[in-house]
Amino acid sequence: MNSRMARIALAATVFAVVPAIAIGQTAAPLTLTRLDCGTNATPSDVSRFSDTYAFNGVKVQLAYSCYLIRHGDDYMVWDTGNPAGTAATSPKTSLVDLLAQLKVTPAQVKYVGISHYHGDHVGQVSAFPTSTLLIGKGDWDVIADAKAGGPVNPAPFAKWISGGGKVEPQAVDKDIFGDGSVIMLNMPGHTPGHHSLLVNLKEMGAVLISGDVTHFRENYDSNGVPTFNTDRAASLASIDRFKKIAASLKATVIIQHDARDVSKLPAFPASAK
Ligand SMILES: [Zn+2]
Repeated sequence: MNSRMARIALAATVFAVVPAIAIGQTAAPLTLTRLDCGTNATPSDVSRFSDTYAFNGVKVQLAYSCYLIRHGDDYMVWDTGNPAGTAATSPKTSLVDLLAQLKVTPAQVKYVGISHYHGDHVGQVSAFPTSTLLIGKGDWDVIADAKAGGPVNPAPFAKWISGGGKVEPQAVDKDIFGDGSVIMLNMPGHTPGHHSLLVNLKEMGAVLISGDVTHFRENYDSNGVPTFNTDRAASLASIDRFKKIAASLKATVIIQHDARDVSKLPAFPASAK
């Protein structure tokens, strides 16, 4: 084979292999619904979200958001927010009650995906005891070894720690339904096993849901790293990867804690398709 033919053959091979992942479109109906998981009553001082003192005295309205993904007959919940209850940051309606308005029961939720182990993302995970828990391995290792009263509260995960629930810790990316439509992206740094989520919708296109790879738009734009992240270098690498994926796929970026970003998706109970 001459070199020109070899190049053509190589190109044909590449294009034959790439589309399933790159386009990620699936025959199964795929929808994405935002779920309110709490809010701060007033704009918060965001000083601690920059370890270079970039936002001293700045206040931003922070929200807590969760997501429901429908893939054919399967459902997945992404993050479970603050616990329902009477705390100032608690959601007014629990995840279970929000799902009930969509006629979805916890038993129908095949996967509960958790971006990372912080309390404002795991508060209602115990409401899904029969779901397979998808979480970064670095985070799961900390949870499974945590002591009550320590920096990571293992209590919401008791069902899975005891072996009574199925957990699939993820060390790398995870193509959840095997068709490229919904992918957990390994984005360590905020915590050891932190993940973001990519949802490839048919009409809206790629949607990148941040987890806490960043917390608000201004910090994202300036590659800011919170003071309390577990690994600064990994945080910067993850922000870089996240931005490059967003550019490659022309994705809609949803920063989960930024109320301005969450509103890029239709208001509940409507869903993005
Ligand atoms: Zn958070």
